Amino acid sequence: MIIDYHIHTKLCGHAEGEMEEYVQSAIAKGLKEIGFSDHFPLFHIELRDLSMKMEDMPLYINKVRELQEKFKKDISIKLGIEVEYTPEIEKRTKELLKNYSFDYIHGSTHFLGNWVFDHPAYKDEWEKRDVYKVYKEYFSRLGRMVGCGLFDVVAHIDLVKKFGYKPDRGLTEMYKEITGLIKQHNLCVEVNTSGLRRPVKEIYPSEELLKICFNSGIPVTMGSDAHIPEDVARDFNIALALLKRIGYKKIATFSNRKRTLVNL
Ligand SMILES: [Zn+2]
Ligand SMILES: [Zn+2]
Repeated sequence: MIIDYHIHTKLCGHAEGEMEEYVQSAIAKGLKEIGFSDHFPLFHIELRDLSMKMEDMPLYINKVRELQEKFKKDISIKLGIEVEYTPEIEKRTKELLKNYSFDYIHGSTHFLGNWVFDHPAYKDEWEKRDVYKVYKEYFSRLGRMVGCGLFDVVAHIDLVKKFGYKPDRGLTEMYKEITGLIKQHNLCVEVNTSGLRRPVKEIYPSEELLKICFNSGIPVTMGSDAHIPEDVARDFNIALALLKRIGYKKIATFSNRKRTLVNL
């Protein structure tokens, strides 16, 4: 089975199209299961159009429920969410998440301090930084995210490479450390094709990192990170070829935060 568990909606302020159009696009591409996973409201920082607003959460959830019902004969639709991991507000995030019943929760890291390192508007900051140190900081933050117990899936695990900045030193040690934590805390890793549409032109995770995930027995999900309906399941043929080359035969699906592995 092929699933796309990473689909956004215009409620986040930087995606386009109606939610129904994403569903239609998935059906047209032959998918049997998808999940919406829009950006959970950010409340620690005043930046517009990066996430949904808290007051729109009921709208998001009701719309997913409505589409589940409307398309139940054609496709299974999950209610997911993508949550920014912010160590400073971990407790508050945990309390807020208790108010909802998601099928799965993506944990992601787009911030290092106040810097949105993957945002084109703040790309210049990369030129001022030591790239290796940025990677170290990113993966150490990700390690805390994995250990905090709030999440089911690590979204775009090596997002830090998005603009193509790469350290001249190898990253194997960092990869081993993070996958060790992921295994220990029983999370999944998302194979996210949006990196192919970014300057780095690579899937998240890289082949080296995905191999380490496989060798560590970490299950995977798939996501396009679509912000327009046409991008649903975009480049999944490339992701599937990669998964098969590495040896993955199963994919993780979720219902009510419970994981089930199904054949790819
Ligand atoms: Zn987004
Ligand atoms: Zn996303």
